[in-house]
Amino acid sequence: MQRSTLKLCQSCTKTKPLAEFFHSDECDAFHPFCKPCLAQTLKYRSKERAAQKKTSRKTCAQCQQHLPLKMFHWLEASQSHHSYCRACHAVYMSERYRRATQRTRLGKKGLLVAGRGLEPRTN
Ligand SMILES: [Zn+2]
Ligand SMILES: [Zn+2]
Repeated sequence: MQRSTLKLCQSCTKTKPLAEFFHSDECDAFHPFCKPCLAQTLKYRSKERAAQKKTSRKTCAQCQQHLPLKMFHWLEASQSHHSYCRACHAVYMSERYRRATQRTRLGKKGLLVAGRGLEPRTN
């Protein structure tokens, strides 16, 4: 039993007992980093990935501005971000609403015109 076998950690450069290292059965070797260092590395990596996700940007299809992803609406249905930024999306939606109300107003006017139009036809 060579329980006292030590191994040098490639990360903290400390000599630690093998119990402090993860053993990979696949390649029949110990990980070059000790457990605390490996945990830290993994944590750092996931943090880095999260930061990357946070800082990733997208170009708005409307205003052509390169904006952070949080400036875009998340579309649950397509699992992607909207091609318009929130500001452009708001403008787009209000424009769409304006057009919709304009159309109904025109529709009402059209009906009125049609109603009036009936009068001369009675001549
Ligand atoms: Zn270490
Ligand atoms: Zn935009």
